[in-house]
Amino acid sequence: MNALAATNRNFRHAVRLLGLDSKVERSLMIPFREIKVECTIPKDDGSLVSYVGFRVQHDNARGPMKGGIRYHPEVDPDEVNALAQLMTWKTAVADIPYGGAKGGIGCNPKDLSSSELERLTRIFTQKIHDLIGIHTDVPAPDMGTNAQTMAWILDEYSKFHGHSPAVVTGKPIEIGGSFGRDAATGRGVVYGTEALLAEHGKSIKDLRFVIQGFGNVGSWAAKLIHERGGRIVAVSDITGAVKNPKGIDITELLNHRESTGSLKDFHGGETMDPDELLVHECDVLIPCALGGVLNRENAADVKAKFIIEAANHPTDPEADEILSKKGVIILPDIYANAGGVTVSYFEWVQNIQGFMWHEGKVNKQLRRYMTRAFQNMKNMCKSHDCNLRMGAFTLGVNRVARATLLRGWEA
Ligand code: GLU
Repeated sequence: MNALAATNRNFRHAVRLLGLDSKVERSLMIPFREIKVECTIPKDDGSLVSYVGFRVQHDNARGPMKGGIRYHPEVDPDEVNALAQLMTWKTAVADIPYGGAKGGIGCNPKDLSSSELERLTRIFTQKIHDLIGIHTDVPAPDMGTNAQTMAWILDEYSKFHGHSPAVVTGKPIEIGGSFGRDAATGRGVVYGTEALLAEHGKSIKDLRFVIQGFGNVGSWAAKLIHERGGRIVAVSDITGAVKNPKGIDITELLNHRESTGSLKDFHGGETMDPDELLVHECDVLIPCALGGVLNRENAADVKAKFIIEAANHPTDPEADEILSKKGVIILPDIYANAGGVTVSYFEWVQNIQGFMWHEGKVNKQLRRYMTRAFQNMKNMCKSHDCNLRMGAFTLGVNRVARATLLRGWEA
């Protein structure tokens, strides 16, 4: 099942649990606006290359639309659509005053030089600058993009609209980024994991973790889990996978990756098959990479008792069913990875106020938002007698539906 079909299915299930009428359902499912643009750039050797860029603005009933921009070869309209919709529910779950959006360019950023990436980002910004804005749609980093990408968007956007730091979040600190934003998604994952484990009378320091993906989210989550005494028994990224039943020293692994550019030949563990990683013996599995990695092929073999969805849409509905029959507890993406967009909100607030918070304040507020959202999600599980995914979906969909109904439809 593709990401959009899966997201729509979860959405419809939440609509049924909430007893919303079909008019609201239809209005919430159709995206507000879908943008598709051609982006042609000269490569460094002078040849021309064309890419397709997308921005899907899903809903703005609760505030400006918000969501990342992804550079990845598999970016396609359906996926961007699904991810935009997930952002609408995610910002509502976190109870930050935003709607949802997502963008992407179908390219492999690893094949592009820094100046090619800059040209591509500037062209894309030129094509969409009239449709984004501080109070309309605020992009941020996602897979394949980072603070530098946001700096280029800010610079290009400001040529048309004047200096506007709040038009993107996840910027470098020097030009209006927030302390703690870089770590925020991973830190939020850890706060969410602590809240979930506490409910089950467990704590990070007593458990074994497997982390799939060692990019921004995975490496921060790993670092913070390691700091709290959790035993990380396997880690993977696109260069390979490494395991150590006694626990991997994450600081050493980060240093190794920094100096060699890969997880290969790491002395503090043994190489393993990356496909085996998801079904490796552990207590907590944290997918931090692409969508759809847990599916009917591997779900039955998962050993973890808890899955923390740090990635967006890592579990497809068939796997969801298999895992829940096995009694695996899944902390859903629209809650588990909401730390990133929550600190994006803090960054936007700081930019609008022209006042910078220190990192301690950012992290403290992040914990407060993640803990509150966890309680709100649990309350929905109780009222609707459902699992955490439906607890999160009903929470998000209900908040957006209420905002939509309060605003009304009169033209
Ligand atoms: N790309 C991140 C996400 O999927 C962050 C979005 C944001 O900060 O706007 O939640």
